[in-house]
Amino acid sequence: MLTSVETFITPGIREFSIIGLAGASVKESKNRVCAAIKNSGLELPKGRITVNLAPSDVRKEGTGFDIAIAAGLMSASGIIEAETFNNFVLIGELSLDGMVKNVAGIFSMCVFAQKNGISDVVIPEGNVNEVLCLDGLRIWPVKRLDDLTAISKREKTPLSGSLSDFCAQDGFLSVAEIKGHKTAKRAIEIAAAGKHNLLMLGAVGSGKTMLAHSIRSIMPPLEKQDVYDVTSVYSLCGLLNEEQPVIREPPFREVHTGVTKTALIGGGRPVVPGEISLSHRGVLFLDEATEIERAVIDSLRQPMDLGEVTVSRVGHIEKLPSDFMLICAMNPCRCGNLLEGPEKCTCTPKMINHTLEKISKPILDRIDIHIPVKTPGYAEIKSDAPEPAETIRKRVCAVRGLQQEKIALKGLKHHTYSRLGSEELNTVLEFERGSEGLLMRSAEYLSLSIRAYNKLKALAGTIADLNGHAKVTEGDMAEAVQYRMIDRRLFGEGGAAENAA
Ligand SMILES: [Zn+2]
Repeated sequence: MLTSVETFITPGIREFSIIGLAGASVKESKNRVCAAIKNSGLELPKGRITVNLAPSDVRKEGTGFDIAIAAGLMSASGIIEAETFNNFVLIGELSLDGMVKNVAGIFSMCVFAQKNGISDVVIPEGNVNEVLCLDGLRIWPVKRLDDLTAISKREKTPLSGSLSDFCAQDGFLSVAEIKGHKTAKRAIEIAAAGKHNLLMLGAVGSGKTMLAHSIRSIMPPLEKQDVYDVTSVYSLCGLLNEEQPVIREPPFREVHTGVTKTALIGGGRPVVPGEISLSHRGVLFLDEATEIERAVIDSLRQPMDLGEVTVSRVGHIEKLPSDFMLICAMNPCRCGNLLEGPEKCTCTPKMINHTLEKISKPILDRIDIHIPVKTPGYAEIKSDAPEPAETIRKRVCAVRGLQQEKIALKGLKHHTYSRLGSEELNTVLEFERGSEGLLMRSAEYLSLSIRAYNKLKALAGTIADLNGHAKVTEGDMAEAVQYRMIDRRLFGEGGAAENAA
């Protein structure tokens, strides 16, 4: 919300009040502004000063109003010209000696200002790096309060922002550096191409974590609007700095055991975005997922379905973006060796079931791909000649483009099949007869829920795109079914028992 600062001076004894539902931190602004004006060698206007923050029915918090209030007073006493900051947004906290201090969340404030038709922003010099990527923004950095006078006298020129000045960061672990793991690498490519959620089961040291991280090397860069959305969240959390003033690459957030629901989902007062918002348009990685409290993981359900999260805070409700791809890694059993060979696993069928049940069925239903990750053998490592990550990334980008195009052609709003509902999938995808038959038989045999059934369809669609098939073939569908590992073998009636035997 934009707040306008109005200053009234009426004759009388010198008095200073701030009205318009100002919170405690805003009321204290009075003392900081007065001291800063005096210590900058300037004079306060004479008379009774009233500063009104409009609209007056919304509570204002934070220290960022100082500069705007000071500008109001300075123009009231004729130090700066009254018209100077019309149609400007001014953000900054003042220290008593007149210096301007940084404010958290500058990026989203500037994006918001632009959305409301304001391109001139006065911001603390220390925050400038955060907003230099905003196209078309005129940035007026201030270091000291009297810089406002210089701006008023046109002694300063604004900096202009441009996204093209920033290049993407690299230096991620490349998928090409991983030897062996052919199936897992194929699954990661499919996941990246269609934004499918992925679960990897395997022993400690089998390579799950490394594989999860390598997805960064094949993800398409963020589109411009996504760069702004993601950077806004990071700005809100104060996570931007000189090294990383803007987020160009899809974020990758790794969450460890012991994560709390608030840290994951967001909340608190003031509202702090959680990991699900920090991984918006990127990846949320839950390593050792079975060690995370089940209720905490279950809280992901709604944000995953909606692509946003609603965090309520005293008085009003705030919506934060949370369209992330989920990657989970877990041990398949207590000893972890179930998939390394039956002779290596020391768990009973009951223990195996117990481990697997730590991930609830509703969460499993939302995961499109489940794969085993087995430590590669010497021969597999030796014979592997990995493809360059850039080659894979190109294929991934091509599929993303194709899906976006096919979906837009039908007048739908999402970008990938994985976000479409049942009806929408039927409109966008075409299935060869053989693939439809296989889908029906698998759904029955694996007792898939409606959600899992749709996930399977979307997954087969992405596989068909990667394989260059206009219609989903039986082969594409067979590959998709193969990735429903937990449905096929480990869960279901007597599944674990069979497996352990
Ligand atoms: Zn075991």
